[in-house]
Amino acid sequence: MILDGKALAERRLEILREQIDESGLEPALATVIAGDDPASRMYVRMKHQACDKVHIQSTGITLPGTATTADICQAVRRLNADPDIDGILVQLPLPPQAETDAVVDAVSPEKDVDGFHPASLGLLASGRPRFSPCTPAGIMTLLSAYKVPVAGRHAVVVGRSIEVGRPLALLLLLADATVTVCHSKTPDLAAHTRDADILVSAAGRAGLITASMVKPGAAVIDVGTNHVNGKLCGDVDYSSVAKTAGWITPVPGGVGPMTIATLMENTYLSARLRSCNRF
Ligand code: NAD
Repeated sequence: MILDGKALAERRLEILREQIDESGLEPALATVIAGDDPASRMYVRMKHQACDKVHIQSTGITLPGTATTADICQAVRRLNADPDIDGILVQLPLPPQAETDAVVDAVSPEKDVDGFHPASLGLLASGRPRFSPCTPAGIMTLLSAYKVPVAGRHAVVVGRSIEVGRPLALLLLLADATVTVCHSKTPDLAAHTRDADILVSAAGRAGLITASMVKPGAAVIDVGTNHVNGKLCGDVDYSSVAKTAGWITPVPGGVGPMTIATLMENTYLSARLRSCNRF
């Protein structure tokens, strides 16, 4: 079965728009981008378009590629102090001279809709998530919507980044999976992946996961976004793995749209929490 993230994200955005319209709230998301990396600009544009769809106000700050850590932190702090802004998203990666950790730490945890602040990740690790990072949370929504069993199953996550692999492992644990995290230093990756009931690849390596690495009937979630010969593809060799897997996400149209839908949901959550002083 194909896990159609595009269709599910569209349905969730429609429901979210209705909830926002009925709430009387005016949620607002601010994006911050430094430099003119075309992929980053495209992602920010897509996030603003999603805001328009669900009636979230959006505003964007664009800084030059020469922006320093202090410049970016200053922009973030202005947004922290702006009572009309509910969510702040700093588009990563930042230019090389900027310190990502310092910028992520500068975002107010109350407005951390990307879920990368140590306070958000700490809450998640404590088992009481507030803003979960959007890609992992979107994957959990996808698994749940398609009724992929998670509790008691063996989930293998390939990748341990703060944005994807690490928080996803925590969310899978919270959902009672038995979790293995693999990474670039894991010897014999296939020995782990072959035992996975749920296999998530978030390595950013085209063709990393082949059919012989997948247990028949497993759910295979492909987070990778790679460009090969000008074409977007994931980490999974889709045509061969689709014959072995029980569930599989396409690239594009799988995890990506769920990431954006979750960002919208996190922004609305922030607006609701802020409106009743729940921080
Ligand atoms: P990252 O580069 O920060 O982390 C990659 C991880 O994969 C690392 O932990 C590394 O140890 C591991 N890895 C690399 N090569 C490996 C190998 N051969 N075997 C085992 N592990 C290996 O990347 P990230 O930010 O986590 O993103 C991963 C991929 O997911 C990228 O392609 C990125 O573009 C994509 N991504 C997609 C979305 C989406 O919404 N679709 C969101 C975030 C990231």
